[in-house]
Amino acid sequence: REPLVRVRNLQKYFPIKKGIFNRHVGDVKAVDGVSFDVFPNETLGLVGESGCGKTTTGRTLLNLLEPTGGKVYFRDDSIYDLSEEQMRALRRKMQIIFQDPYSSLNPRMTIENIIGEAMEFHGIASGDERRQKVENLLERVGLQPSYITRYPHEFSGGQRQRIGIARALALNPDFIVCDEAVSALDVSVQAQVINLLQDLQEEFNLSYLFIAHDLSVVKHISDRIAVMYLGQVAELAETDDLFDNPLHPYTQSLLSAIPVPDPKRKKTRVILKGDVPSPINPPSGCRFHTRCPACFAPCDNVEPRSIEAEPGHFVRCHLYDPEYAPKDASVFDRL
Ligand code: SF4
Repeated sequence: REPLVRVRNLQKYFPIKKGIFNRHVGDVKAVDGVSFDVFPNETLGLVGESGCGKTTTGRTLLNLLEPTGGKVYFRDDSIYDLSEEQMRALRRKMQIIFQDPYSSLNPRMTIENIIGEAMEFHGIASGDERRQKVENLLERVGLQPSYITRYPHEFSGGQRQRIGIARALALNPDFIVCDEAVSALDVSVQAQVINLLQDLQEEFNLSYLFIAHDLSVVKHISDRIAVMYLGQVAELAETDDLFDNPLHPYTQSLLSAIPVPDPKRKKTRVILKGDVPSPINPPSGCRFHTRCPACFAPCDNVEPRSIEAEPGHFVRCHLYDPEYAPKDASVFDRL
């Protein structure tokens, strides 16, 4: 199976400037060497605490933010090497649904214009045809076609997110970044929107990058999950594999915060020390070493590489790297 989207060593730094001369004094390394694939018809979940770089990853890979380094391929196209015109054509295929359904819709535009604007811009439809298409889309996302004349403030949060989904679908995309798309919604509405996204995925053959801070939300929609920590992917695996057999100490700590309904299932309890360090000066060696209960000799000065510890299960941790793995297995007992 060929990936639809390939992200390779993606970097996004935000420069920090100081003083009247705007002196460059450092960078916030929001995304620092992220790589993954998204396959056709797949949902890849991207999780991590706030500030770990997951939203910046989603926006940079769509070229909404200018990358500092790395490559993103959509099928065979290296998207940062495309001309503006080529990128505009490709943008139809790569869409985004934003976190905040309250601020992502222009309050002065009718629903018809919000959803139909891009159709007209890309020459897909105008006039009556556009209206018909918008009505069909509204119906498809579970809203009444007659809503086209209304304005965003007339809708609930869940309904606005459905409008955001209809807007993303208007250009017939192949790939959608769902950027914390359900995080602002009530739990019951979250489930409805997730179900809708799953139905649409099947119907339109969509691939999603589903970004969220909550692992239990991501679990229900994702085929695979990538866990981010301080601008890097710490672990990437199939969803069941990640939940049944988390390898990275950080993933284990995230999972230990989720209640386990099955009392027979062993629960790893990993308590982390301290807070997430600053992405301006990330810790040397392994970025997680300042908080890791298993930290051992190479961790504070050698940066771990991503290892395929089991088929399709990638982890960035020396514990699983044959070159550095500890001789003394008692290190694992600390987890
Ligand atoms: Fe912990 Fe070392 Fe693995 Fe980093 S490399 S997660 S510090 S054991």
